[in-house]
Amino acid sequence: MKRLIAILLLFFAAAPAHADEDARTPVTVLVSIDGFRADYLDRGLTPNLSRLAAEGAHGKLRPSFPTKTFPNHYAIVTGKRPDTNGITGNNMIDPRRPDVKFSLGDAKQALDPFWWDEAEPAWVTAGKAGVRTATMFWPGSEVAIHGVRPPDWLRYDEHIGNAQRIETVLDWMRRPAAIRPAFVTLYFDTVDTAGHRFGPDSAEVNAAIAEVDARIGDLVAGLGALGQPVRLLIVADHGMHATDDARVIQLADLIDLPSIIAVETGPYAAIEPAAGTDDRVYAALLKPHDHMACSRREALPERLHYGRNPRVAAIICIAEPGWTILAGPPAYPVKGGAHGYDNQDPEMLALFVASGTGLSGDIGIVDNIEVYPLLMRLLGVAPLPSDASGVLAKRLTK
Ligand code: AMP
Ligand code: ZN
Ligand code: ZN
Repeated sequence: MKRLIAILLLFFAAAPAHADEDARTPVTVLVSIDGFRADYLDRGLTPNLSRLAAEGAHGKLRPSFPTKTFPNHYAIVTGKRPDTNGITGNNMIDPRRPDVKFSLGDAKQALDPFWWDEAEPAWVTAGKAGVRTATMFWPGSEVAIHGVRPPDWLRYDEHIGNAQRIETVLDWMRRPAAIRPAFVTLYFDTVDTAGHRFGPDSAEVNAAIAEVDARIGDLVAGLGALGQPVRLLIVADHGMHATDDARVIQLADLIDLPSIIAVETGPYAAIEPAAGTDDRVYAALLKPHDHMACSRREALPERLHYGRNPRVAAIICIAEPGWTILAGPPAYPVKGGAHGYDNQDPEMLALFVASGTGLSGDIGIVDNIEVYPLLMRLLGVAPLPSDASGVLAKRLTK
């Protein structure tokens, strides 16, 4: 009898572990397809994304200004616009560190928490709340923000192919329950890269769209084979606008270049007078121009929610969509595609697809900061205060 009880006790002790393996808890996967313009979904090239959109929800994300990669990836995972999340550009100078410049290509600065600590991304807050996280790339995920990195993260390397990125995520999901992530980020750069080099209407962009769509298909199939329930949020950071050499604004035609520091050029320019203050610079730039509008940072239109952070340069010039602002010869060919324009430009609108989240139908145009409260709701973690209204999270039916 005693033996029977002992066996029964062993059986029941083992039961929860079995139940755990059989019934997997859902994983939330936040996917970014960099530069996937909202209307790329209508090109008939994306059977997987289109099916997920039809079964779940879809819409268009309005990026935050400036419509660049780092500010918008950080906006999506913090719910804060660039002015409040601290990542005010792909390139920026902070008056508290006047001798250095943040830029995505400069690992020393890009990996320094100083630049990121003005906000807290979802993986840090979720991690603190006991949710296991893993990042298959995301701007900021390599940085110990507020002292925390995800337990699984990789140093950004664009040579790690899209198929390998999917395999990495699936490998994480093959782990035993105790070390399996419940929140994963995944990032693809190839659609953006093709958009810059060949323009949004090119065969190369179409090929990149179709390839990433196939990888999303692999992810969904791989998770299905594991019996792993998933809540997928698939987003982009901004769209893409065609550009060419005929539509160029040379700042040198307006002001002698040594008198300015061009922190950023392209679809928008961030400009500091080199001397700290220089009335000639303001006079030359703040007057009306044919294909760009410049303003002091404190006088930018309110709808841009931009200019209060000390990291925003003294003068911000925004080109008419399709135009390129240069300070000297271009660093890379102008002809192709670009983003960074006013976030009201329809061609800056970005992809949004949600599947398995309880969200359904066409959600229309939504500010990208609204993804954050939705994400936190899916993770079951209280969101930190943010700039978001919660309009998207409120649409959840469960
Ligand atoms: P953009 O200049 O706004 O088009 O930035 C897009 C580029 O950012 C892509 O070509 C990526 O290679 C690069 N990128 C994306 N994530 C990271 C990262 N975590 N670290 C450095 N560069 C990145
Ligand atoms: Zn981007
Ligand atoms: Zn880009």
